Parts: sequence; structure tokens; C-alpha cells
Amino acid sequence: MNRFTGKVAVVTGAAQGIGAATAVQLAAEGAAVAALDRNAPDKTVEQIIAAGATARSYVCDVTDRASVQSVFDQVATDLGQPHILINNAGITRDDMFFRLSEDDWNAVLSVNLTGAYHCAQVAQKFMVAQRYGKIVSLSSRSALGNRGQANYAAAKAGIQGLTATLAIELGPYNINVNAVAPGYIATAMTAATANRVGLTAEEHQQTVAERTPLGRVGQPEEVAAVIAFLASDEASYVSGQTLYVNGGAR
Ligand code: NDP
Repeated sequence: MNRFTGKVAVVTGAAQGIGAATAVQLAAEGAAVAALDRNAPDKTVEQIIAAGATARSYVCDVTDRASVQSVFDQVATDLGQPHILINNAGITRDDMFFRLSEDDWNAVLSVNLTGAYHCAQVAQKFMVAQRYGKIVSLSSRSALGNRGQANYAAAKAGIQGLTATLAIELGPYNINVNAVAPGYIATAMTAATANRVGLTAEEHQQTVAERTPLGRVGQPEEVAAVIAFLASDEASYVSGQTLYVNGGAR
């Protein structure tokens, strides 16, 4: 498939995990990909270029509005004005609510939710001008509530509200805005969670697999495939939705 030929896609948090898999998939289908991360996502870009596709690496901390603005301007100069934004950068700082520090609350809200606000607000100017845009943001199954993740759950529920509202405001400009809400995906983020509870990544995945209807955890590429669908014209009449990608878990 070549669903993204002629399109410029910005992917945040593209150095690893779901962001890297998404950057690879969009580029494989023809997009010129701007891979953003707080440390240069060079490995992702090298992989894309080695496969004969187009990508460039940018250092961008999504919590820093000025950095987001200047990187988007640079992307427009280097690759062209962005058509697609994937708000993927995310962190966790888990703790039980009674001792959740204000620093951990602010850090998680600022990357997962304010970062998406910064990128979407900068991106929509380009998208409105060209009367074309796709914004896909990473929510999470945790938006429904998850022990030890009050900060993360609030941020990821916030993504769903932001998505529903941007779909209303940007729809008249032919901009589709959607979210994906993964369940447990095998990445560095979930490996760190395993570590915190004293398990290996494999042991932790096994416990999650046992309570997941499909009997296993997800892989980054399985989320990237759904993100790519929502970022494509195949999903042209889908907007304001959050699609759960969680192996059937309730
Ligand atoms: P990873 O931790 O593997 O990757 C996240 C990337 O985002 C890292 O490269 C990280 O850099 C980067 N990042 C963090 N903060 C910033 C910032 N301020 N500016 C730019 N980049 C930043 O996570 P996943 O691939 O697992 O997760 C990707 C997204 O999917 C996240 O939004 C996450 O919340 C969401 N998600 C993941 C699930 C899972 O099970 N894995 C489930 C549900 C949702 P660094 O390494 O330097 O921190």
C-alpha cells in the first residue's frame, strides 16, 4: 500500500516503541516522516532510510512550546508542510494517589497532554491553510482508571476530550482528529513498569496475557497499523473517535 505518498508526517516520541513503529510504517507507505524525540531519534531514521524511504530526525521536547514551533517550521522547510501529526510522546510516573507528588503529576500531564496540545495547535495552522490534516493522539486503556496511575489516567482521558473537541473545531477544515487507546504493549515503557513491581518484562507480560481475551500482550506494530489507518484517507469519515487496541480486555 502507498496510502501516504506525497504526505508529510510528524511523529513525536519516535525514538523507540510505538512511535518508532509508526514512523517506520508511515514512511514505508510513502510519507516523508519527521521523527521527533527529546533525544535525536537517529536509529529510527536510519532504519527508514536503509529501507529506501524518507525521514529526518529532530530533537524536540513536546513540553517546550518554543521548541515545538521551531521544529515544525524547520520540518516545513526541510520536508514540506505537515499533513499528519501523531501525538505519541509519553511518560509514566506511577505512584499510589495518596503519595503522588506534584512533580510527578505535572511531569505526566505536561508530556502526555500539554505536549499534544502544543503540537496540535502548531500543526493545525499548516493543516487549516492546506484544508487537509490528520491528527492521531495516543490515549490509553488507563484512561478508564488504573491503580497507581491517577496522573497518567487523567492525561490519557484528557486526550480523549481534546480529540473529541478538536474534531468539532477542525472538521470544517477537512481535518480528522482521532485517538488510539492501547492496552498493554511490549515496549520500554511497560518493561520499566515490570521492573518497578519486581518482575522481568516477560513475567509481567505473562500476567497481563492471562487476563487478556486474546491471550497475549500487544506489539508496537499492531498499534502502528491502527494509527496508520486513522491517519489515512481510508478513515476519511472517522473523526472524534478513540479506538481501543487492547486485545479485547474490558
Ligand atoms: P516509550 O517509553 O517506549 O517511548 C516513548 C518515547 O517518547 C521515548 O522515546 C521518550 O523519550 C519520548 N518522550 C518522552 N518525553 C518526551 C518529550 N517531552 N518530548 C519528546 N519525546 C518524549 O513508550 P511507548 O512506545 O510504550 O508509548 C508510546 C505512547 O503510547 C505513549 O504516549 C504512551 O503513553 C502510549 N501508550 C503506551 C502503552 C504501552 O503499553 N506501551 C499503552 C497505552 C498507551 P525518553 O526515552 O527519552 O523518555
